[in-house]
Amino acid sequence: MKKVAIIGSGPAGIFSALELSKHNPNIEITLFEKEPYSSGGMINDCKLNLSHEIGMNIEELKISEENANNLISYIDKTFLEHGAPDNLYGVDEDKIKRLQEKAKLCNLELISCKQRHVGTDNSKNLTDKFKETLMKNGISIQTKTEVKDIIKNPEDGFAVITSKENEESFSGFDYIISAPGRAGSIWFREKADKLGIKYLWGPVDVGVRVEMLKKNYEDLTDIIYDPKLIMDSSDKEFTRTFCTNPGGRIRLERLVENEDTFSIINGDANEDSKTNNTNFAILTRFYLTEPLIDTRKEGLELVKRVNRYGGGKPLVQRMQDFFNNKRTKAEYLQTNGLISTLNPSFVTPGDINLAYSYKVVSKIKTFIEKLDHLALGVRADPNNLIYAPEIKFYETNYITTPDLETNIENIFVAGDGAGKSRGIVGAALTGILAARGILKKEGVEYK
Ligand SMILES: Cc1cc2nc3c(=O)[nH]c(=O)nc-3n(C[C@H](O)[C@H](O)[C@H](O)COP(=O)(O)OP(=O)(O)OC[C@H]3O[C@@H](n4cnc5c(N)ncnc54)[C@H](O)[C@@H]3O)c2cc1C
Repeated sequence: MKKVAIIGSGPAGIFSALELSKHNPNIEITLFEKEPYSSGGMINDCKLNLSHEIGMNIEELKISEENANNLISYIDKTFLEHGAPDNLYGVDEDKIKRLQEKAKLCNLELISCKQRHVGTDNSKNLTDKFKETLMKNGISIQTKTEVKDIIKNPEDGFAVITSKENEESFSGFDYIISAPGRAGSIWFREKADKLGIKYLWGPVDVGVRVEMLKKNYEDLTDIIYDPKLIMDSSDKEFTRTFCTNPGGRIRLERLVENEDTFSIINGDANEDSKTNNTNFAILTRFYLTEPLIDTRKEGLELVKRVNRYGGGKPLVQRMQDFFNNKRTKAEYLQTNGLISTLNPSFVTPGDINLAYSYKVVSKIKTFIEKLDHLALGVRADPNNLIYAPEIKFYETNYITTPDLETNIENIFVAGDGAGKSRGIVGAALTGILAARGILKKEGVEYK
């Protein structure tokens, strides 16, 4: 019996485990998760973007549009079987078409996309059901178990070293699927260097999160729950909206890097209890070339810089002050600002212009001016709030076959941490591709 170790229980890990167990009961699967609970990022908000234009790059993945669409339908069906809501957003094609024409006049591209929203309040139920299926399929789920190292055996297979409650153990595996997410990407890159796994430097998306009154963004969110608008879409360093949360909350995310912890901004929403505000990110993508190629390091420098200006916290600024290059004062915010959904003690009022580079700030300002034509009030309301740093790292992109096998035979990668996806559906899709790669090597047919 062949043994597979899956590292990480996010959507990439869960869907690879499901796919393997569904088609080959003779494979022994162990899913390692360092946190106490299996789910990865699926526990947050859990909007499902059902389009191959979002959260993945099918050209890079080397799959056809038809294949991607079939896989997305398959993933959607699996989510529905595990309790995702029936309700679909983004289905009124006439309204979407009109909005797309309007966006074009503002030099923005609107991606049409059907979406489901599970919500942070319902995501625990959903992930519990996935866990039940995994256990029913005979998968061993090892939570609170961190994979520390992967060692290639002189002949076949790998030794995987794990640590649980400070106790180390070794086990042998024939295949590895590494899906450690963005939080585990640096750890895996160190292992990849040791194992000789080849990779390229990927981009970093950096920007701000805007918070405004829900009713002022409804011209867009009533048509598409999470409208994906892109500026300079033909340029690889494009700027776009990302992760819109109507009636949602601003969330603080901890970024742990070696011994340091930084605070970055994110957002989510419940499905059943809504706030009066909507938040969304505006991110601009950058790549680096020689002599500075380490996008992770440079992205982190930006995070450090903003945290430094905020005295160890993220920054918040009023829209009007952001456009006037003026620091927002705490006293003014308390009496005149929009009521933030984030505890004010978690952020420092300041000037984002001072902390970010001209390139980032100028692109964000141009984008906001354009967006204001589509949803009047984004720029026009002086009291809207802008938070920084918002950042998404996709800095390591492993060189793989279309089955996501690396140059080290039998080590596969999947999900955001491998630079293969940028969201839940994309991560799930790459998990399936990796699993099918193993099935193929084992001579197992799947449909
Ligand atoms: C606040 C927030 C809201 C979000 N909202 C959405 C949304 O609405 N829609 C959407 O599409 N995306 C959303 N995302 C992004 C989404 O969560 C990710 O794109 C997705 O989860 C990536 O899946 P993954 O399987 O690659 O990695 P992850 O989901 O990050 O899972 C990786 C897992 O690996 C574990 N791990 C890492 N290293 C090790 C190790 N050495 N040993 C054992 N385990 C390890 C981690 O603990 C983690 O559980 C959101 C993210 C956040 C933070």
